[in-house]
Amino acid sequence: MARTEELIREVDQYSARNYNPLPVVIERGEGVWVFDVEGRKYLDMLSAYSALNQGHRHPKIIRALVEQAEKITLTSRAFHNETMGPFLHKLCAVTGYEKALPMNTGAEAVETALKAARKWGLVKKGVPENQGEIIVCENNFHGRTVTIVSFSSEEQYRYGFGPFTPGFVIVPFGDAAALEAAITPNTVAILAEPIQGEGGVLVPPQGYLAKMRELASQHHVLMMLDEIQTGLGRTGRLFAYQYEEAKPDVLILGKALGGGVYPVSAMLADSQVMDVFGPGDHGSTFGGNPLGAAVAKAALEVLLEEDLPGRAMELGSYFVEGLKAIDSPYVEEIRGKGLLIGVEVKKEHGSARPFCERLMAEGLLCKETHEQTIRFAPPLTITREEIDWALERIAKVLAPRETAE
Ligand SMILES: *Cc1c(COP(=O)(O)O)cnc(C)c1O
Repeated sequence: MARTEELIREVDQYSARNYNPLPVVIERGEGVWVFDVEGRKYLDMLSAYSALNQGHRHPKIIRALVEQAEKITLTSRAFHNETMGPFLHKLCAVTGYEKALPMNTGAEAVETALKAARKWGLVKKGVPENQGEIIVCENNFHGRTVTIVSFSSEEQYRYGFGPFTPGFVIVPFGDAAALEAAITPNTVAILAEPIQGEGGVLVPPQGYLAKMRELASQHHVLMMLDEIQTGLGRTGRLFAYQYEEAKPDVLILGKALGGGVYPVSAMLADSQVMDVFGPGDHGSTFGGNPLGAAVAKAALEVLLEEDLPGRAMELGSYFVEGLKAIDSPYVEEIRGKGLLIGVEVKKEHGSARPFCERLMAEGLLCKETHEQTIRFAPPLTITREEIDWALERIAKVLAPRETAE
């Protein structure tokens, strides 16, 4: 324990206290497993918020990283590099869009989409300059920049960080009528998550995304989906929108696009949207760099070669069935799609945090989201046997306890 405490104290001393992590210090990882500095083994049930869909240190992705690192790692976009073209070609082929704009973090890709939508509104739709409105959903999570928290409905994400960026309208998530009512002649885009991950794994009513698609087309507004967390296999389809007839005009990817190895994000769209950007309009020093491009191309290949969406579909139902079979007095609801699963703890039993702490003691790393929800989102490479191993331990933690907490 001494080493763990010492390392945690060091971070507390030398960094901002902007996180409240579980008291575990991880030293290495492989597949679905991680090991702490005391030599204890844990099953990773968070997958870095779905950035590790391919598992820790997938051999093919690591090979791509190492091979590229031995050639060239960074050129900036002032010059071309050999790796970016094949990566973008692959990304467009896999997603079905004409163009991709590579960035690094999720928030940057969201910002890119917001800029694209505003400029599209001005130059293509004819909305007066500085008048474009973007509709977003209550309880959203799209990142942490000042503009993005400008349209968060979470008080803590905003408090102290104003003044904020104007031009956003918030509507209830999952309510198509409210969405329709919010559209004005100045609306340029609707931005939403197909399932709200950080919001507590909230699944909208069936038909909501299809209706959003219909409204967007009808009113000449861009439909933009943030699939940073739900995309790339997590929910049992390559993209969560594929459960409905709801292909967005703009698709935003990040997290697992970097294969759990390197930050890579992208905004995808067809030419009529992407062409609003001209030289100098937007950029990023590291966006599309050779190392990231090589890693992301391998990450996409692994996703398809190992049919990770199919695995998520099959093993997700298996996992949920197992969870539902646990007779627990603490559970309010179990929800999700594929391997994005939320177990909501009843309010009268306190927050989900103590449950996550007990799961950690049993060898499972989970993190509470939105106070009441335990999110189970393991790497999509997980096996049935590993799920059984997890269920045994989850059952122990969710079983009735004699002493009230
Ligand atoms: C994580 C996440 C982001 C932000 O990604 P960063 O890489 O942390 O900037 C945006 N949207 C969704 C839905 C996310 O889950």
